This record gives sequence, C-alpha cells and structure tokens, in this order.
Amino acid sequence: MKTDIEIAQEATLKPINQIANNLHLNEDEWEPYGHTKAKLSDKLLKKLHDKPNGKVILVTSINPTPAGEGKSTVTVGLGQALNRLNKKAIIALREPSLGPVMGMKGGAAGGGYSQVLPMEDINLHFTGDLHAITSANNALSAIIDNHIHRGNELNIDPRRIEWKRVMDMNDRVLRQIVVGLGGPLRGVPREDGFTITVASEIMAILCLSTSLEDLKERISKIVIGYTYDEEPVTVKDLRIEGALTLLLKDAIKPNLVQTTENTPAIIHGGPFANIAHGCNSIMATKTAAKLGDYVVTEAGFGADLGAEKFLNIKSRSGEIDTDAVVIVATVRALKMHGGVEKDKLTFENVDALKNGMANLKKHMETIEQFGLPFIIAINKFPTDSEAETNFIQAWCESHGAEVALTDVFAKGGEGGMELAEKVIAVADSNERNFQYTYDVNETLESKIRMITQKIYGADDIELSQKAKKQLAFYEKQGWGKLPVCMAKTQYSLSDNPALLGRPEGFTVSIRELHASIGAGFIVVLTGEMMTMPGLPKRPAAYNMDVTDDGKIVGLF
Ligand code: ADP
Repeated sequence: MKTDIEIAQEATLKPINQIANNLHLNEDEWEPYGHTKAKLSDKLLKKLHDKPNGKVILVTSINPTPAGEGKSTVTVGLGQALNRLNKKAIIALREPSLGPVMGMKGGAAGGGYSQVLPMEDINLHFTGDLHAITSANNALSAIIDNHIHRGNELNIDPRRIEWKRVMDMNDRVLRQIVVGLGGPLRGVPREDGFTITVASEIMAILCLSTSLEDLKERISKIVIGYTYDEEPVTVKDLRIEGALTLLLKDAIKPNLVQTTENTPAIIHGGPFANIAHGCNSIMATKTAAKLGDYVVTEAGFGADLGAEKFLNIKSRSGEIDTDAVVIVATVRALKMHGGVEKDKLTFENVDALKNGMANLKKHMETIEQFGLPFIIAINKFPTDSEAETNFIQAWCESHGAEVALTDVFAKGGEGGMELAEKVIAVADSNERNFQYTYDVNETLESKIRMITQKIYGADDIELSQKAKKQLAFYEKQGWGKLPVCMAKTQYSLSDNPALLGRPEGFTVSIRELHASIGAGFIVVLTGEMMTMPGLPKRPAAYNMDVTDDGKIVGLF
C-alpha cells in the first residue's frame, strides 16, 4: 500500500473555485489562497442565518491507542461515501498542530484514500491560522510585561499572572521558565511558561466565536492574572482587544479545501481534546451545516473527551443540534483495552478483544445518556483477522447496536457505503432526545463531579487544596455558572493513563483550575496533565525531508 503522502501527491485536485462554485458561493463570500485552498468570508455565517441546517453527524471514538483510531480518516471517508450516494455532504475538521506532526507519527488530515488535501500544506503551515493565534497570544504576553516594566499602573502581581506564552511545538523545556533576567533594561523578572498554541485560550475563543465582533468581545474578557489585591485583570483593562482582534482578522475565516474524492471540507481551529475543548470552530461546523445536507464533523480523542466537550460546550455555545453519532473503534485498540501489549496488537486474539469490548460499551452508554442515536464504525486495519471482525459484528448485534465495517482508508468513499447508508437512516429518523450532562447553573464542583461520574464512570473526585481554594474564589467572582473544560489523559476513562478497558472504583484527582473567561469555560486539570507536550524518543521529524526540486517526503 502506498503511503499517505504518495496517495496525496497522486490525487487530482479540482481548482478551488470549482469547489466554491459547487457550494453556490458568491464572489464576495470566499477568497482563494493559492490554487487549492480558500478562506470563507467571516460574514458568511450571518448571511446564511435563515437557511435551515443540514444534519449534523458527530464522529467520536473509544479511548485510543497512541497512534489514533482513525476518526479523521472515517470522517473524511464517510463524507465521501455520502457524496457517492448523491447527498450534499461537507466535512468539518480541525487544523493540525505542528507539535504532533513533528512528534508522533501520523498527521491529522485523514489517511489513505480518505484524506483532506493538500495534506502537505494542511499538516504544515496551512493558511497561517495557528501562527496568527500564536502571535496574538504572545503580543498579549509582551504587553503585560511591558506594562509592568513601565510602572505597573494596574498593580498587576507578577506572581499571579496566569497568561502564558505559546508555541505550536512540543517543547518540554519551556514548560516553566523565568523571564526578564539581566537587569532593569530587560524588564521585571517573573516566572512564566509556555503552553502549546492549541491549548491556548485564544484558540478556544477563535473556535467558539461566531463573528469578528464576538471574537473581540470574548478577547476583551480574558483574565490575564490578578492584582496584588487579588482582583482579576482583563485584556480590556490593558486596552489591547482591538490589536489582538486585528492579528486574528484572517484566522477567523474558515478554510475551504477538498478531499481525495473532491468532497468539500471546511477546516478551522484546532484545540486538542485532552488539554483543551477539542473541536473545530463553530463557524466551520455551522457554515458546513448551512451549505450542505449533511455535515460530518469530528471531535478529538474518545467520547469521554472530544464528544463530551462538543456536546456540553461547543453545541451549547453555538446552538448546534447533533442528529447522529458515529463511534469509531478498531480491533487493535479494543485488544489493547483487553490487556494486549502494544507490540503484540497485530496478532489475532479474540479473547482479548472480548475483554476490551467493555471500553466500547461505556462510550455507547455515554452517547445514550446524551439521548443521541449512534452507529459503531469498525475502522479496518490490514492486520484484523476475520474471526476478530466477525466477533465484533456478533457482539454489536447481540447488544442491539448498529455497526458498519469500514474500509475508507484503503478504498476511499467506496469503503464507507454501508456506514453512510446507516448514518442516513439514523440521522433522518429524528430519534434524538438530547440532554446535557449537567445544567450550567449547578456549582462548578457539582459539574465536575457529574462529568467524572456519568462520563468517566468514576466513584468521586478528590480536590487538591489549590483546587478547593480556586473553586471558592471562582464562585465568588461569579464564574460558577460557566461550563467546565476537563483536561484528562485520552488513553483511559480515568485520570490514570495505565488504567485501560473500563476501570471501576476510581477517584479522579483534580489538581488545579484555570479561568478561561473569554472562552467562557473553566479548565479543570486532572491527574498529571500538562499543557505543553514533549517529543517522543524518536520524533517523526527524523523521517521528513524535502528534495532539491521541492518534493516532500516522509510526511506520513
Ligand atoms: P484519529 O483522528 O483518531 O487521531 P487518524 O484518522 O488521524 O486518527 O488516523 C491515525 C493514523 O492512522 C493516520 O496516520 C492514518 O493514516 C492511519 N490510519 C487510519 N485508519 C487506518 C487504516 N484503516 N489502516 C491503516 N492506517 C490507518
């Protein structure tokens, strides 16, 4: 089988104006970014306001292996299959971060014959959105340090600045640093640190904003830290919301591209789902829902992370109604949940598979709790044995769950026809009876408890002293009615990455919180989660190259 990049380089892309014309976009509603990429106008969503929404299909998964389970691949393949069935389908995905691209093998543009293209651009700098977010974030850091250096009129306590610098790279040495060393001309020394761009509040804000106005309003509300009297200091206090919005004026426009089979795809925003809210922008999903009959969209990692936040945070804020959910599972990940070591996943092991089904079962129950109909998609890998896939099919039938074997990686849309037919049947049957996991009017502590108990299956939570103090302080500030954005390992339903399958009888330790007032949620850090990842022993970057005539190699 050819590599992703080889398949991508052989694909025939349509000029982007053809893709835009097929969506009946007027000239002032989009602008080309080269031959195969475009930006949609930030005014488009408002213009389409009265148009009815197409069906929204959310793709999620079981707890993944380190390589990912193929949610993006299935999302793209499903969109292509729907188009083969003459449905007007549009895909909405996140923009990849350079951190994992350079770090772990595997991009975020799908795979095989189900990719969004040009994958080289999408996986690298694309249309510069992540760089713009990085710049806006760091402009704010520079303004804060300059403010303190110039006399600190706002009385900001340098020990209580929560705003961190960001970079779109996995760089562990920057997690905790000291800035301003070297004497009076170099500013006031203080502790600082970097987070990865995709975990930044600006990224979350961009993804939850519905217009330039909304973006500016949210940016103005960012709390950067506290004064010596422990009063919050906002971007509005620093009078910098205009400049920061200006830096994001193009990044807020959703990006239009196409798939290997020329299905339109809107790719915009890229927060990670383990340390941030994990979904593409509201503008991307809603625009796709307005322009298409079906939007197939993905939320990161398992249903305990991305889907929970898609449904409790993004959908609440953006008034998005989900019609059906696809839960992606793979034989290899289910076997891992059944106790098989990572290097033995390619060998047939039906017993382990049987044990691992408990993980899938929990995610099915989670989606049922939300009151949404679902279909299980088994993303086929060449190493899956017939006995293993037969077992899964029989298991799903005996549990009354719809399942489809998909082979969109090797066959493109053709490999997703059964899934597409089942998705249409479920989405069109209007079976949804949606309910949130929590009422936002509950206290923060109770919202955290509800997520951990209902979604993770935990017994209870254990709050650190710091978290207890923060909870009381946030409630006093009037921030208690905001939704919560959990930061938790993606590998386990618990906060311990080593507990696979369906752990029971565990408590989730809540280490600390962070107020993202501009984004409109409170981030809750559990276990050992860190907001700046590190590189693995052998980073994917070692395989990459560009030849003298500009050909890219080794990008998966
Ligand atoms: P996720 O969205 O769940 O993180 P991706 O769709 O990005 O997963 O896929 C992760 C990696 O696995 C990608 O490199 C992709 O090319 C590869 N992949 C996905 N599905 C298959 C498959 N069926 N067979 C082989 N490789 C696959």
